Amino acid sequence: MEDKNPSSNTITFLGTGGARFMIISQLLASGGLWLDLNGTEVLLDPGPGSIVQATKRKLKPEKLSAIILSHRHLDHAADVNIMAEAMTQGGFNQHGWLFAPADAVETEPVIFSYLKNYLEGIEVLKEGKSYSIGNISFTTPVRHIHPVETYGMLFRTHEHTFSYIADSRYFDGLCTSYGGELVIINVVFLEPRPTIDHLSMPDAKRIITEIKPKAAILTHFGTPMWQAKPWEIAQRLSQETGVRVISARDGMRFDLAQLDDS
Ligand SMILES: [Zn+2]
Repeated sequence: MEDKNPSSNTITFLGTGGARFMIISQLLASGGLWLDLNGTEVLLDPGPGSIVQATKRKLKPEKLSAIILSHRHLDHAADVNIMAEAMTQGGFNQHGWLFAPADAVETEPVIFSYLKNYLEGIEVLKEGKSYSIGNISFTTPVRHIHPVETYGMLFRTHEHTFSYIADSRYFDGLCTSYGGELVIINVVFLEPRPTIDHLSMPDAKRIITEIKPKAAILTHFGTPMWQAKPWEIAQRLSQETGVRVISARDGMRFDLAQLDDS
């Protein structure tokens, strides 16, 4: 048995791809974010391949305390069933929670009923509510503008606060809803596409400038965004905003202790 490390605070990117063409080509992976915070492990948005990416990186699904879905789209939820199976060791170790918006678990549930029975429970995400799992707490401050019910999260651990800004169209009140030392932003588009409810690079710049975190991580790239070399864009954004901006890479592990020295 490995001991849990209560001082470890890491976020592992099991994928950095977003939107349909990136996901069906798997040019970038789409396994979600694996949080390991003060000994509590949580999987956020297990898109297609989450089980492959997690096991390849020696992460142990049976250690998960919860799976959180920001929304029911495939690139965020496709592997929720297999990850629930893995978290509970095929139902032999019933535990763990699923957090998801109502439309992901009610009318057309993304999770099979027999797997639901393996869980400790399902918690429905609602605007403005707070939740806790082990040593982590989080809030879902605002409902996003996206074709299905969607929430981002503001996480708190003993030492750190960070935001995950999931898929959304930019709207007034987005920036004021989030904060913390670190902001993770799902930036699908390079250029604004006003008819589609996703953030673009100019939106990300605005968010970073308004929130002024210690660091920002860009992820969930669509194809044109990836072709534009997001690591170069991140470097430019760092210079323009004075905030350390990082472009996520598949498999990247970000240690929140990095936020302490800045
Ligand atoms: Zn989406």
